[in-house]
Amino acid sequence: MAGYTVAIVGRPNVGKSTFFNRLLEQRKAIVDDVSGVTRDRQYGIAEWNGKTFNVIDTGGFVPKSNDVFEQEIKKQVLIALEEADALVFMTDTATGITDLDEAMADVLRRTTKPVYLVVNKVDNNQRLLEATEFYGLGFENIFFLSAISGSGTGEVLDAITEKISEDRYAEDEGEGVPKFAIIGQPNVGKSSLLNALVGQERTIVSDIAGTTRDTIHTHYNMFQKEFILIDTAGIRRKQKVEEDLEFYSVIRAIKALDEADVCLLVLDAQKGITAQDLSIFSLAARKGKGIVILVNKWDLVEKQTNTARDYEKLLKERLAPFTDVPVLFISAKEKTRIFKAIEIGLEVVENRKRKVTTSQLNDTMLKAIAAYHPPVVRGNPVSIKYVTQLPTVVPSFAFFCNYPDDIKAPYRNYLENKLREQFNFKGVPVRIFFRKK
Ligand code: GDP
Ligand code: GDP
Repeated sequence: MAGYTVAIVGRPNVGKSTFFNRLLEQRKAIVDDVSGVTRDRQYGIAEWNGKTFNVIDTGGFVPKSNDVFEQEIKKQVLIALEEADALVFMTDTATGITDLDEAMADVLRRTTKPVYLVVNKVDNNQRLLEATEFYGLGFENIFFLSAISGSGTGEVLDAITEKISEDRYAEDEGEGVPKFAIIGQPNVGKSSLLNALVGQERTIVSDIAGTTRDTIHTHYNMFQKEFILIDTAGIRRKQKVEEDLEFYSVIRAIKALDEADVCLLVLDAQKGITAQDLSIFSLAARKGKGIVILVNKWDLVEKQTNTARDYEKLLKERLAPFTDVPVLFISAKEKTRIFKAIEIGLEVVENRKRKVTTSQLNDTMLKAIAAYHPPVVRGNPVSIKYVTQLPTVVPSFAFFCNYPDDIKAPYRNYLENKLREQFNFKGVPVRIFFRKK
């Protein structure tokens, strides 16, 4: 599935993050049933009219110091223009049109991608009258709203989702050649890993300044299996500057994730897992992608008997609650366990396709339920009668019961753990739904 990515651009304090949080809000109820969920500050998944898309708040990537920031913001806009499918250009009616708004509008008017000019803080009719000056910026799609109250957001969402074609969601049936995305922070060793797998040096830096290529897909054949590696490392901007690197690598990672079946999340053993890694991890989980964690540069770590075991334990504490994930200690430099990484990745692909028969499910899960009943809520004993796996790409299970709303997270987690004990879903997020019988 190719994802659709919308970037929110605009100068500071116009209300980007308020609007961003509002977009993600609609989805909250839906994502709660996926393990490993945390909210992100910078990007997330929005849902409207049954369509989902990635949203990125570019403001989250701009350092809030005054000296560099005009330039910084313009850079973010350029990257967003290149990488996103659509842009929300936020402005603020309380301040009116500023020079920076004009400068951004100049850049944004030149794109052929959809740009939605959002005039924010239109909290009342007086403000609406004032806001008409924004027609002067010359955008066809203009929306007046109040991100704080939420009024007017529906119209923008209608317009955005209208452009997203249905075929973006034609879920491939998990068939075809498995696709792995190699994702990780800069310098963790993604390109080294790729090169080690390919067995030859590849030129990774695009030599035309400022150009970007789309994600590079490379076909492989190993262990009699075919697979595709999606390379995010190979796509680098020449003369990249430290500041835009994070935004750039995040937006790339999100796109690669959408295309992949399994995410190979590469960490630097000496640095450990970063907040950004955890965000990518949770995004991958929410998107229902398989995950393998590769702790690279293991050659640099001084090892004693239990070093790997202790490392994994600490790592999993950070990953909780979704800890049923393979962790491998590799060295791209010394080519240690790099083929194992692919082998495990292929196993995760199989786990993700696993279909458990209804009778097997009921045999085991009803026993687990009998051994530990859902807690009684408001005096109502909750009883689960029947379990079935849904015919979806991401393993999903429906538990039919009398009071679906009364089953809370701890019991849901109990059921997930039981499922994982009985059936091999290692590296795979599973979805659990409670339905009225
Ligand atoms: P960002 O820097 O563009 O991400 O802006 P924020 O989302 O942090 O918002 C900046 C300020 O504007 C905050 O104090 C918000 O509460 C306020 N704000 C955001 N949306 C609205 C709105 O619709 N109406 C009003 N009156 N204030 C808003
Ligand atoms: P990328 O930005 O994630 O693609 O990282 P690179 O593949 O460019 O690697 C960054 C640096 O880490 C380079 O200097 C590599 O030689 C080094 N490196 C990569 N993998 C390993 C490893 O397994 N062990 C050691 N010691 N160094 C590594």
